[in-house]
Amino acid sequence: QDDKFKKVISHAKEYGYVFQSSEIYDGLSAVYDYAQNGAELKKNIRDYWWKAMVQMNENIVGIDAAIFMHPTTWKASGHVDAFNDPLIDNKDSKKRYRADVLIEDYCAKIETKIEKEVKKAAKRFGDAFNKEEFLSTNGRVVGYQEKINTILARMGKSLENEDLADVKALIEELEIADPLTGSKNWTDVKQFNLMFGTKLGASAESAMDLYLRPETAQGIFVNFLNVQKTGRMKIPFGIAQTGKAFRNEIVARQFIFRMREFEQMEMQFFIKPGTQGKWYKHWKETRMKWHLSLGMGAENYRFHDHEKLAHYADAAADIEFKFPFGFKELEGIHSRTDFDLKAHEEFSGKKLQYFDHEENKSYVPYVLETSIGLDRMFLAVFSNALQEEALENGTTRTVLKLPSVLAPVKAAILPLVKKDGLPEIAKQIVEELKWDFNVIYDEKDAVGRRYRRQDANGTPFCITVDHDTKEDNTVTIRHRDSMEQQRVKIEDLRNMIKQEVDV
Ligand code: ATP
Repeated sequence: QDDKFKKVISHAKEYGYVFQSSEIYDGLSAVYDYAQNGAELKKNIRDYWWKAMVQMNENIVGIDAAIFMHPTTWKASGHVDAFNDPLIDNKDSKKRYRADVLIEDYCAKIETKIEKEVKKAAKRFGDAFNKEEFLSTNGRVVGYQEKINTILARMGKSLENEDLADVKALIEELEIADPLTGSKNWTDVKQFNLMFGTKLGASAESAMDLYLRPETAQGIFVNFLNVQKTGRMKIPFGIAQTGKAFRNEIVARQFIFRMREFEQMEMQFFIKPGTQGKWYKHWKETRMKWHLSLGMGAENYRFHDHEKLAHYADAAADIEFKFPFGFKELEGIHSRTDFDLKAHEEFSGKKLQYFDHEENKSYVPYVLETSIGLDRMFLAVFSNALQEEALENGTTRTVLKLPSVLAPVKAAILPLVKKDGLPEIAKQIVEELKWDFNVIYDEKDAVGRRYRRQDANGTPFCITVDHDTKEDNTVTIRHRDSMEQQRVKIEDLRNMIKQEVDV
């Protein structure tokens, strides 16, 4: 697993997807830059989300709010007081960790044991193996699961009650060691606020303390009434946006999974109070369908329903994805009640209510939120796509099986040789296709090597111009995943590619 993750990171660099930020200065921890291919892939994921959420839904509109917001926003939202991580230091290594993550990692190790037992049993029982039954009846596995539940429940309770001494006690009882040095010499647990502060204004005296937004959602809440009025929106309706968010994350060793500067794609759906159960279910299903539509394998997703709820929520679930380091949160679906709008009413002194003509009364709407990290989605797509395939001739090929709709380059146009007028024809095809798709021209190296390069780059089609092209205006189109080749007319290329890459 570790090995796979390392390959993902090095492939992302080698093929121009993701670079460490400020690499020539030895980088900045947990900050990354998207390179020539990465920027395209990221944009395509964002567009795929925007199309599904905004373009395809008459009652959802998109906005683009500023990163800087009035500082009172973060008082009202609860971030100034409650957006904390519980941290613990190891006295010997002087390394700092998130106490909750240490405990969760401990539980993940037990979960690995469960998986091993399941694999062993599946092998032993063959076709007769029933996983559900095994999980609920095998003594050892049930014991493991109970242990996980007990630990997580106690941690949840301690954090909720701000009983940080008990979080430390739990770490000591479980004999959790510093993952780097093995030392078990821990300090007390302390709360640490994750927001980045900055200043607005020229002179030191008049400057105003600001935060870089830690989530995009608040930009939607404060604009709720403006959008509702100017868009003449009727409940239920949604406001969506994508944009940067900033968190001073402490556990920052998971590539683009957890960054200090990242991008969110969020949608707040405003509903009548009392209907949240129905809409919670609706958005859980709808968002899962969106994920499945990319064809990355249903077995790689699961819901995780929260028992411990944030201060603003009455129900919450994560869509988890199987990253190279295990199942982790990819998207959150939260029933936020009227917590945010009520808080902004209170702190701003402005009414944030909706007049419901059917009910003939005003109320503060309830909110259902879907919130997904664009960078995390990028990592899900990229790591799932990266595969090493054993070929019939005994060699292996590295192929990035990106969903075609998301691939940065849709087709590479290759002249078989650099002479006999073939480059000119290939360049002419590029000229024609580039109006509709991101395509590239490549004439360097033997055609087999060029195919491999495009496979590793994730390009779904290679189009090869050869001597026959001059006779009959046909080219060879090679499919990345099957490696199958077809002879097609140049004039049919656009439609063929369109069929595959259009949403
Ligand atoms: P986690 O528990 O992993 O820290 P969270 O529960 O704090 O995540 P939310 O506040 O619900 O996350 O944010 C919504 C989404 O934003 C997450 O599902 C995730 O995809 C993304 N996200 C949150 N923090 C980061 C980060 N530091 N780097 C990249 N993506 C992030």
